[in-house]
Amino acid sequence: MIENELRSATEAEVVAELRRRPAFVMVSHVKPDGDTLGAGLALGIALKRLGKRVAYFNQDPVPRNLRFLPDAEFVSREIPSDFPPDTLYVFGDMSDHARAGEFLPKVDRANMLDIDHHLGNSHFGALNFVIPSECSTGTAVMRLLREMKTRIDPKIATCILTTIMTDTGAFMHSNTSPGALELSAELMRAGADKEQITEEIFGNKRVVATRLLGRIIDAMQFAHDGKYCYSHVDDAMLAQTGADGEDTEDMVNVLRAQEGVDVAALFKAYEGEIRVSLRSSGRVNVQAAAARLGGGGHFRASGLTMHGSLDEAIAAVDATLLAEGL
Ligand code: 5GP
Ligand code: MN
Repeated sequence: MIENELRSATEAEVVAELRRRPAFVMVSHVKPDGDTLGAGLALGIALKRLGKRVAYFNQDPVPRNLRFLPDAEFVSREIPSDFPPDTLYVFGDMSDHARAGEFLPKVDRANMLDIDHHLGNSHFGALNFVIPSECSTGTAVMRLLREMKTRIDPKIATCILTTIMTDTGAFMHSNTSPGALELSAELMRAGADKEQITEEIFGNKRVVATRLLGRIIDAMQFAHDGKYCYSHVDDAMLAQTGADGEDTEDMVNVLRAQEGVDVAALFKAYEGEIRVSLRSSGRVNVQAAAARLGGGGHFRASGLTMHGSLDEAIAAVDATLLAEGL
């Protein structure tokens, strides 16, 4: 029963459903990254070429460094009022539909397609195309585009290469498989501008962001024989540097990259909640740790949201990481 429930749909099943539906809302997760956006935009562009109606929903603005993505200007919090009742909502890169945020109107399960690569995806859709071995949700979308015989033009290629470069940390993380590199080469040949993606996402930091990084590094602490490194950002640090939450996106990786560190945590204590980013060098499963505290993600990269004081959050995460073998 459970096995049956968690069966991933085949490419052919998903594409048959895509062909049947007249209209689509591509839904990306709160605080969107290059994978959730790039995957939805690539599939949306392909569906529009088939004459389908497509809207892109995100409750947050597109981050500054992802506004170069084709069709990013159409991402919004609004869903066109004249979309038909059998519109398919395509959720990309989220293990549960709640990650779309509270501004998404209620959607019937029958109208949900879940495309993802997270461990522990709850298979919340009527159809679930969930492939944890894929390095990004975008590469799972690529499988569907091949099944649809979509011509991979420079726009689609740029979207998919962005998903790969985002989720592999520009080809550095352990999910950088030979297949991911081969597909990246194919996407470059199809017109994806790797230089532009590198510059926009990784080579375009604001000075205020770098000043904030300095503050985070100043506040860095080590525990458990140096195997655990953590730091925090709070409202005062943002106000003093002029940076904002968007600027903190990659900063936990700096903590993880310190010599001898197995797990890093960045506690983002602003806007009335504490968002925790966890990263692992591969020994400790931070997805399992995050899941114990109501979050999720991948073996080496996960996140969660907590309420209460920063000290309480630090203590709870510490205990949970120890329980996961830190
Ligand atoms: P980040 O630290 O970059 O925010 O997130 C790292 C990974 O954890 C991403 O794959 C992201 O989707 C996942 N993640 C982050 N926050 C949450 C959360 O609150 N719930 C779940 N289920 N996954 C999360
Ligand atoms: Mn992803």
